[in-house]
Amino acid sequence: TEACLTAIDGADALNAFVHHTPDMARDMAAAADARIKAGDATAMTGIPLGIKDVFCVRGVPSQAASRILQGFRPEYESTVTRNLWNAGAVMLGKLNQDEFAMGSANESSCYGPAVNPWKVDDRHLTPGGSSGGSAAAVAADLCLAATGTDTGGSIRQPAAFTGIVGLKPTYGRVSRWGVIAYASSLDQAGPMTKTVRDAAIMLGAMASVDPQDSTSADHPVPDYEAALTGDIRGKRIGVPREYRVDGMPADIDALWRKGADMLRDAGAEIVDISLPHTKYALPAYYVIAPAEASSNLARYDGVRYGRRARLGQGDGITEMYEKTRAEGFGPEVQRRVMIGTYVLSAGFYDAYYNRARKVRALIKRDFDKAFADGIDAILAPTTPSAAFPLGSLDQSDPVQAYLNDVFTVTLNLAGLPGIAVPVGQDAQGLPLGLQLVGRPFEEGDLLNHALVLE
Ligand code: GLN
Repeated sequence: TEACLTAIDGADALNAFVHHTPDMARDMAAAADARIKAGDATAMTGIPLGIKDVFCVRGVPSQAASRILQGFRPEYESTVTRNLWNAGAVMLGKLNQDEFAMGSANESSCYGPAVNPWKVDDRHLTPGGSSGGSAAAVAADLCLAATGTDTGGSIRQPAAFTGIVGLKPTYGRVSRWGVIAYASSLDQAGPMTKTVRDAAIMLGAMASVDPQDSTSADHPVPDYEAALTGDIRGKRIGVPREYRVDGMPADIDALWRKGADMLRDAGAEIVDISLPHTKYALPAYYVIAPAEASSNLARYDGVRYGRRARLGQGDGITEMYEKTRAEGFGPEVQRRVMIGTYVLSAGFYDAYYNRARKVRALIKRDFDKAFADGIDAILAPTTPSAAFPLGSLDQSDPVQAYLNDVFTVTLNLAGLPGIAVPVGQDAQGLPLGLQLVGRPFEEGDLLNHALVLE
C-alpha cells in the first residue's frame, strides 16, 4: 500500500487517480495486517486497489467523472466495493473514466483525459475508455488491480490499449447496486488486472448473489482460481468469420492467427463459425445504450444529487432543470440523452428502439447457436487498432469513436462473459489484445482458456 501511494504521488501526469484516499488506505492496510496475523485472510486481504469513479464508496466523492455530480458523497457503499472490503482489499482512491462511462478514449471526463503509460515518440496516447484511469493505473503499477465497468467494451478495450487483462462477467454475475447507471441492461462490473490468475481471484471477491439488484443472478459464486488448470485439450474454439472486417490492420489479423495457433498448440480445435447478425450490433447498441441512458440520467435534475446551477431572478423549476443539465453534462452525454429521447419518443419507438431490441435477440441467438453446436469459447480481436493519440478523434464525427466498439458490443447485447488478454504488440511496440467469449456463467472455463493466451 505504501509503495502504491508513493507511485500515485509521482504519477500526476497520467491523471489516472481523480481522488486519493491515503488515510483510508493506511487504516485498511493496518486492519488487513491484523487480519493476516489472526490467520483470517483471503487472497484479497491487503491488496491495494483503485476504484473506478462510477462505483459509490461511502463518504468518498463518486462522480462518474461528471460535473453534475460535483459534491456528491454517497451515504452508501456499492455491493462490489463492499464485497472487496469484506475480503480485506485496500482502497487507494477513485479512478478517472469517461463521463458516465460514455466514450472510448477517456476524453469525456470532467477531470480531463487519463494518459496511457505507453508512448510512441513522446506522443500522449489514450488509455482507452471508458475505464481509462483503471487501465492506466494498473499498467503503470499505481495499484495491484482495479475495478472497471463494461457496457459496450469499457473494460476490455482499455485493457487491450494498455497491455493488461480485463474481464467482463456474464450479465447478472456481479451486482450493479451502487454503480452509477449508464445502460442498465448492458452494464456489468469486472476486474482489471495484470494477470489472468489475478482476474480469477478478484472476480471471486467482486461477484455475489445480491437481493438489492433485481438482475443479479441466483448462481453461487464458484472458486474461479480452482478452474485454472491450463488444460484445454479437446476444447472447440470458434473463430467468427464476420469479425474479419474490411480494412482490418495486418497486425491485428496476424495477432488473431497467433492466438489461434497458441490455443491449437495447447490441444484445442479451431473451428470456423458464423455469427451472421454481427454487422447490426453497433447500430443496435447505439440505439439501446442511449435510450437507457436518457432514462437513467433523468434523475440528475439539480434537486437530488450533486450540483445545481446558479439561478437568475425569476427562474423557476424548468430553468433550474435546464441550466443544471446544460452546464452539468458534457457534450457527449448531452448527445446520448438526445439520441435516447428521440429513439424512445412515440413516433419513432417502433422504428428504432423496438427494431434494435429485435436485432439484439438475433445477435444473442447467433451466440446461443454456436454454443449449442459445441463451441466452448470464441476467439476475436478486442479492438480494431492499438491505442491512438489523445485528441485524434474528430469531435465533429462521433461515429468515428463508436466504430472502436465493433468487436466488444456484441457480448454486452448477448449478456455473455468476455476477457481481453494482452497477446502481442504492433509494429510500433504498442500492446495488442485478443478477446475470448465464453458461455454464460462459465467464467472459470473462460479464464482457463485465457491462461493459454497469456
Ligand atoms: N464506448 C462505448 C460507449 O461509449 C462503451 C462504453 C462502456 O462500455 N461503458 O458507449
